[in-house]
Amino acid sequence: MSRQRIVVLTGAGISAESGIRTFRDGDGLWEEHRIEDVATPQAWHADPMFVWRFYQARRRQMLEVEPNPAHEALADLAERHEELTLITQNVDDLHERAGNTSTIHMHGRLKTLRCERSGQTEVRMEEGDLKDEFLTCTCCAVAQRLRPDIVWFGEMPMHMEDIYAAVEECDTFLVVGSSGHVYPAAGLVNVANAAGAKTILVNLEAPVNADAFTEVHLGKAGEILPGVLKHLSEEDMQPE
Ligand code: NAD
Repeated sequence: MSRQRIVVLTGAGISAESGIRTFRDGDGLWEEHRIEDVATPQAWHADPMFVWRFYQARRRQMLEVEPNPAHEALADLAERHEELTLITQNVDDLHERAGNTSTIHMHGRLKTLRCERSGQTEVRMEEGDLKDEFLTCTCCAVAQRLRPDIVWFGEMPMHMEDIYAAVEECDTFLVVGSSGHVYPAAGLVNVANAAGAKTILVNLEAPVNADAFTEVHLGKAGEILPGVLKHLSEEDMQPE
């Protein structure tokens, strides 16, 4: 078991080969919708039913997709490296289903819904929870409307204290499948560089912040990530 501290940050690109579309599939839209219309608090206030149905469709889709070799390679890495922190911007549960059960979801999760009044979350993935009608919570005396447990644009990402602590202490920082547009996630590579970590990127095409990385591997994560991680583990096993 290696003592090297590795932090991995994944984005929508790692789930693309599982069949979940990324945010910026070339047209700047998410499943044909403008981000402002489905992923902001303003959109929720203006037309909650529209936003609700969008996320219910994403939640149903999650049940139809499977982890791909990139998710699996990260689950294998976790078995070899005690000191691995996996952070994802993704709201799907494909890392957990591949075996990374302690994944940190900085932008929330599709699996859970959040009470609009108390802020408590509950896992709601039964058949009756996936229909188009609004659902209500089980935490309040008078049941309240639930909202998607998603960090929308303009809202504060989750677990930032733990995330900065892990990145500031890491030896290797690896980003997989992220366009480098969404902050603060896109800025974490700078925190890792300042901490003296080796910074590695695996992405289909060069993202806007590609220059910030010491090592860049371009290609599909499912095809190239297993090799990148194997090399990382072998390097780590070399005597100092
Ligand atoms: P993004 O959509 O902005 O960028 C995705 C990046 O992945 C692009 O640079 C693209 O070139 C790359 N990519 C596409 N296919 C790839 C592949 N097979 N292998 C490697 N790279 C590939 O995604 P982001 O940077 O994560 O930011 C967008 C936001 O979208 C996140 O906050 C996230 O919450 C949300 N989102 C999540 C999901 C999901 O949970 N699966 C899906 C869509 C959007």
